[in-house]
Amino acid sequence: MNAGAGGAPPTAYALDGAHLLERQFRLAVGPPGGQRIVTENAPGIEPWFSFAWSLSNAHSTPIWPGWPILNKMRNFSRSAVTKAVSELTLIDRIRQRSRRVSGSGLRLGIGDDCALLRLRPGEEAAVTTDLSIDGRHFRLDQHPPEAIGHRALARGLSDIAAMGARPVAAFVSLGVPPELIRPSNQKIASWIERFYDGFLGLAEKHKTPLAGGDLAQSPIALADIVLIGAVPRGEALLRSGARPGDLIYVTGALGGSAFGLKRLHSAGAKSSELTAHLWPQPRITEGLYLRQRHAASAAIDISDGLSTDLNHLCEESGVSAEVNMSLLPLFPGAKLEDALHGGEDYELLFTAHPTVRLPRSVAGVPVTRIGVITRRGAGRSRVVAVDASGGRQPLQPKGWEHFRSAKPE
Ligand SMILES: [Mg+2]
Repeated sequence: MNAGAGGAPPTAYALDGAHLLERQFRLAVGPPGGQRIVTENAPGIEPWFSFAWSLSNAHSTPIWPGWPILNKMRNFSRSAVTKAVSELTLIDRIRQRSRRVSGSGLRLGIGDDCALLRLRPGEEAAVTTDLSIDGRHFRLDQHPPEAIGHRALARGLSDIAAMGARPVAAFVSLGVPPELIRPSNQKIASWIERFYDGFLGLAEKHKTPLAGGDLAQSPIALADIVLIGAVPRGEALLRSGARPGDLIYVTGALGGSAFGLKRLHSAGAKSSELTAHLWPQPRITEGLYLRQRHAASAAIDISDGLSTDLNHLCEESGVSAEVNMSLLPLFPGAKLEDALHGGEDYELLFTAHPTVRLPRSVAGVPVTRIGVITRRGAGRSRVVAVDASGGRQPLQPKGWEHFRSAKPE
């Protein structure tokens, strides 16, 4: 191989790790500033390394580590050489980061064929899954990767909260589209790492270790999560426990996510306007509070919108409900429609017997009474919206429904 200036053996070889997740590799040779590509798009890492080693041996030239052109290559491709050496290295880095988050229920995490989880005596597992897809639940061109990771985990943690369970472990399988891992796009490792930064930041807050997952190239970006929680046997909060006369409550404020989504691309949007949309906070502490005190008769989290989720709760409990529009705690700037139908607020919606005394807030999060459960008449459950002057009209479920195309992305 005639490589390097004037046919002399090269001073070093360098490999470009920017291609590695596509299983395409590039070998550059030559002096600093003068290196040229001698091969790329090799079909797999093993043939590539054999080729690189044969070159290296033939020229008695070091290939790894400590090349003179290492810094040049670093500039040439930020993710190259010392960072994204291989998919395994990337997974190793994710594993290192995930070690920041520990949890008592995780006996064996990433690295073996399965994770091993251990529940406390007398507990049962609460398990939920959630799929987040580009164009349906987030937009690659609108949402920062950290927010996509945070929101993916928040969806699952919010379900755990609604059961009054404590989180034990999380799993995430991530599909990454080719445009994020093309050689010309040096964001390959950084997009994935930023996703995990957001994911693990929220995981750390709720002491939920990342116990496993998968990473693959995919036609579209998607994150599929599994959350494992634990709850004392027979004590989980269910949707089916509401009885006529129970009062209806919500945590936090409503409509903030729909409002934030509308403000996402406004030039003058303040970060406080976007917070509820980009960084929703699952109400784990509040769910545990309600379950430990046996305060709630039924609970659900508001992922699809108050109108839809209250209907779900009523259907499961075999009851109807009245909601006072004037009592709804609106997120600052949000409209009533956002609060009723916007979805993705990830607040808890729960019912409690009228004799149960609830605090005005739990862990700093307001708890607001918004209505009452009523007896179901003939036919299906009905939710009635009562306005400030006493006017009544049916509250149709208009929140997020899977596969409905009219949902604003
Ligand atoms: Mg839910």
